[in-house]
Amino acid sequence: MRIRLGNGIEIEGDRRILLDPITTEEGSAVLISHAHYDHVPKDIRNPRCTVFASRATAEILSYFYGADEVNAMEFNSQYDLHGMKVTPLVAGHILGSTMYLIEHDGPRILYTGDINVGGGLTVEGPADLQEADILIIEATYGSPEYIFPSQDEVRMNLIKWVADSVKNGLIPMISAYTIGKSQEIIYLLNKLTNLPVVVSSKVARASEAYLNYFDLRYQLEHDEPYVYVGSRWKNIENSVKAVATGWAIKRDFGDAKGFCLSSHSDFNGLIKAVMKVDPEIVLTVYGQSRRFADELRKMGIKAEALSSEFIKL
Ligand SMILES: [Zn+2]
Repeated sequence: MRIRLGNGIEIEGDRRILLDPITTEEGSAVLISHAHYDHVPKDIRNPRCTVFASRATAEILSYFYGADEVNAMEFNSQYDLHGMKVTPLVAGHILGSTMYLIEHDGPRILYTGDINVGGGLTVEGPADLQEADILIIEATYGSPEYIFPSQDEVRMNLIKWVADSVKNGLIPMISAYTIGKSQEIIYLLNKLTNLPVVVSSKVARASEAYLNYFDLRYQLEHDEPYVYVGSRWKNIENSVKAVATGWAIKRDFGDAKGFCLSSHSDFNGLIKAVMKVDPEIVLTVYGQSRRFADELRKMGIKAEALSSEFIKL
């Protein structure tokens, strides 16, 4: 078996499995980890091979991307794909996000996709990490400078900022990623405030699949006072701006307030994930992949950033 980073992550045994590829390919099987656009094949609406994803991911792909040919898998069930045994596991990143445990004659491979070891408010649970021989792990925040504050504390600070803004006669506008982060914020606002939540049409479309799993209340318009959630701010009079992203740990957003709310594991979370899986080798992908591999090697863990060169296993 061999692995490389090419058209997504390519695993070649007797047949070819593509994890989060850029495009689908005839004769291979495609596994999608979650519905963020950088993990979804460009030709998802007309795939050239069988595409698999968790049920919730398949639903988001249908509602948001108009992709109706994705085969839904259930978490913790084992599937036989091209002679490889594949088990989808909860990844904790956004609704439906999946890790894949892939077993062949040789080593057990765990691919994390994007993960959050702590889970979130609108996901199935924390990452269900299991032991494997080869761990292919994301490294978005794979550098020690990315250590997040308690997410509960950040959530409370966000709610306090919203309440204070409304008390001052202002409309709070929160910029958040369309799929995942926006729904976390809607859920939080619904639970802890009585404020109407107005969302962008894109966020409303992304939220549809969530309604099958969570009770989210939002609308496209409402009289003041309200709180606005969208991927971008709108031009609203008497408003104040905020951004909800893990990058707020480092970045300054000028006149907008940054809230370090992340759907990813921070550096410590990624280390915790590696310890739990206890693999023989760690292959890092995405974001700070080289840096994270360096940090793991410093700890005496065999690790390398996955590249376009095949690694034979
Ligand atoms: Zn993602």
